[in-house]
Amino acid sequence: MNEVRIPTIPVEQFERAVGREVFERFLARTAETRKSLGSSTVWHINTTAQGGGVAEMLVSLLAYARGLDMDMRWLVIDGDPVFFDLTKRIHNNLHGHEGDGGDLCEKEHQHYEATLAGNIKKLLAVIQPGDVVVCHDPQTAGLVPALASHGAKIVWRCHIGPDRFNDTVSRAWDFLSRYLGSAQRYIFTRRAFIPPQLDETKCVIIPPSIDPLSCKNQPMTAEAAEAILVKTGIVHGGNGQGKPEFVREDGSIATVKRRAEMTSLEGPPSFDRPLVVQVSRWDSLKDPVGVMKGFAEHLDHEEASLILAGPNVSAVADDPEGLQVLQDVEDAWGELPVSVRRRVHLACLPMDDREENAAIVNALQRHATIVVQKSLQEGFGLTVTEAMWKSKPMVATRVGGIQDQIESGVHGLLIDNPTDLAAFGEALKRFLNDPAFAQKAGEAAHARVKDEFLFTRHLRQYLEVFAELEPNHRAQVA
Ligand code: UDP
Repeated sequence: MNEVRIPTIPVEQFERAVGREVFERFLARTAETRKSLGSSTVWHINTTAQGGGVAEMLVSLLAYARGLDMDMRWLVIDGDPVFFDLTKRIHNNLHGHEGDGGDLCEKEHQHYEATLAGNIKKLLAVIQPGDVVVCHDPQTAGLVPALASHGAKIVWRCHIGPDRFNDTVSRAWDFLSRYLGSAQRYIFTRRAFIPPQLDETKCVIIPPSIDPLSCKNQPMTAEAAEAILVKTGIVHGGNGQGKPEFVREDGSIATVKRRAEMTSLEGPPSFDRPLVVQVSRWDSLKDPVGVMKGFAEHLDHEEASLILAGPNVSAVADDPEGLQVLQDVEDAWGELPVSVRRRVHLACLPMDDREENAAIVNALQRHATIVVQKSLQEGFGLTVTEAMWKSKPMVATRVGGIQDQIESGVHGLLIDNPTDLAAFGEALKRFLNDPAFAQKAGEAAHARVKDEFLFTRHLRQYLEVFAELEPNHRAQVA
């Protein structure tokens, strides 16, 4: 088990991130809820410190909360490969997909509980009775009974869910729900994700958010974005007028140094070519192969190039499928006709330095002509929020939380059926052929994020949940 140390963001920067008016409203609206936390620590627990939406959000939320003198901390628990295969199966099942098709029976319960038992000992040594603990996603559900018996106030947050419940979803909830009775609240991204196995009166809806000043989203000049993408080898050419620099979360200036691992036929795309970009973990539910096929079969390749970018696969601790999915994408790339293959590029982004990785994603999203998120299923889709914040026209699928972010035709274009590659190609063409429409959608997208998906709203909602929690006396919970 590790504690992820997050530098505190000074309160002045909080104000700068959202503007004085929003900041003051936030302080006024949270005065009571912040007071009610007293001196208790709020712990967040998950299974990876980087790569994926949960880790992304925790960094910012914790840093700002600490700047307001709240003691918020983050622990990452350990698991072995069998545990992560099992929890990835549950993850896929909760999205309504079979995943590896393995069982969720007593044997799996035993391994799941044994893995968590090793972590629980260490957790009980640092978490105090009366502390608030937010356990994130299926990997942590089995911690709930022991932490509640210890006297902590437990919130369990589920970041994923299906558009339609089926037997696959149900069996995953049957597996998890036996652990969740003593959590006081369940947080979901959308109401439609709440399963019948949980007490609906304990459920609260909190959508995710972004931080406009994080390395991922901070303002970046076109010259700096160009320099970063050339430095990493993701594009070539350009005017060479910028420096590959970004601002670290501690305020210092840093230079992007590492290179991406590129899979390209004749080198990376030139800087001045229109680019269609998807940035995601290498996960089959993000459908990278579908993006590639839709691009190959339904777009004239003189119009644009495609970049599929994702993390270096060894870096995301709790995602065992990454390597296989990347391999599938590379195989599909190898089968493209040569004339298309030279227009399609795969980029594995360096993950050694979280902030550098974020700056590269920032540059790529800003440089893209169109950002796509062709997920087959999605909890929320922070990559969508990030691109919308950068005023990018988005082509995405009408699944999960994406449909809460984009009204099709206003903030981007949604494809009703995620496997409809012709519709995907049509949507790309609409934006490529109508730059004025693309610009208008991008501007509307930015305004939407500003109104609804910034961290201030998110932190306020967390505080409201914490303020409602009852004291939970040690060992009182059966
Ligand atoms: N991400 C990243 N580097 C990468 C690929 C993805 O930092 O190489 C980030 C991405 O910018 C986003 C998060 O990982 O912040 C993915 O969150 P999302 O909600 O889109 O999907 P999840 O991975 O949680 O399913």
